[in-house]
Parts: sequence; C-alpha cells; structure tokens
Amino acid sequence: MPNSEKIIAWIQAFLTQSFIRLFKRSKPEEKEELSLLDEPTTVYPFRSDRALFGQATPFDTIIWNKTRTEKLSKKAKRLVLHHECSHRDRNPIYKGVFLGMAVSFAAGCLLLLKAVLALLLGASLHNLMQPTAVAFTMMGTFLVLFRIEETIADYHALCELGEEGFIDAYEEIALMSDNSLRNQIMGKLLYTHPEDTVRIYRLRQRFAPS
Ligand SMILES: [Zn+2]
Repeated sequence: MPNSEKIIAWIQAFLTQSFIRLFKRSKPEEKEELSLLDEPTTVYPFRSDRALFGQATPFDTIIWNKTRTEKLSKKAKRLVLHHECSHRDRNPIYKGVFLGMAVSFAAGCLLLLKAVLALLLGASLHNLMQPTAVAFTMMGTFLVLFRIEETIADYHALCELGEEGFIDAYEEIALMSDNSLRNQIMGKLLYTHPEDTVRIYRLRQRFAPS
C-alpha cells in the first residue's frame, strides 16, 4: 500500500474509532474483515445494547455492533451489511448534499426552539409564522432525504438478497429490534416498510429495459 493510502487509512480508522467512543459511548475493538458478501468487508466492531446493528459513518467506513449482530442469522447479517455498504458507497456529491441537509436540519431545530422560546416570552404568533415555516421546511427536507436514502439502501440489499431473503431477514431483524413506542414512531417516519420496498423493486423490474 503506498504511503498516502496508509495515511488515509490511518485517519479513517482514527476518526471511526473516535466516532464510536463519542456517539456510541463504547470502546472500539480491532477492525475486522467480514466474509459475508462476495468480497471481504472491513468493519469497526464495538459492543453496545443500543438498538443499532451497524452504521455507515461519514468517513466511508462501517461500524458493527457485535452485541446485536452476533445473535442474527447469516442472512440477516448479510442484509445489515449490504444496507450499510450501500450507504458507504453512495456518490460523494450526494453524500455532501446529505451532510449539508443534516446541518440544515440541526439549524431548523434551533430556529424552532428559538421561536418557541420567543412565544413563551410573549412574542406575537403572527411574527413567528415565518421563522417557524422556515424551520419546518429545513427539518422536513432532511427527513424526506433521509427516508429516500434509507429506501435506496434497502433496495440495494433487496437486489442482492432477493425478495424472499430480504423479507425473511427483515422479519428476523424486526424481532430482535427495540420495539419501544419512540422507535416505532421513528421507524414509521424515517423508514419505508420492507413490503413497500419490494413493491418498488417489482415496479422497477417491470419497467427495466430487457
Ligand atoms: Zn440505513
């Protein structure tokens, strides 16, 4: 491996392990090569009781929650890994737009918070209409983009696993997931139901050029 690639790999590893420490509150383990897909896939494992199996990071790497994934069948692990690889391998320009929208979402949340505080301090509702509308637009645009991104990742996993394998793996993952009310609401808001992903897949198959 040339020196420049070694340096990039070291920076990626450092940032990914820092990401695990900071956002998952867990100690990163040594990186591993998983042999679940056609080619070996590098992941950064950690252990946590959080409702997370794996995640693609902003550094083109994948983190892997061993506590959750070691209970899954090979088929379900393959679904998680295909899904995360799809996120990781997305076009860099699109990724840049996505991250920009994530920042816009955070700014929208702050704007909304400011509007609520102003209302509590006696500002007129009329004056707060515009900033509130802007805040909801900023937040809503990111949520729509997030849902599209998740649907694309599921769609790619479905293409690899086939309809039956995809649905079976999803049912298994649903049984192992955190089914708290908060998670159910987030799931409905941010993720497309697997059956709907299958419908999109069938539709594309029907109109795909033969
Ligand atoms: Zn995802």
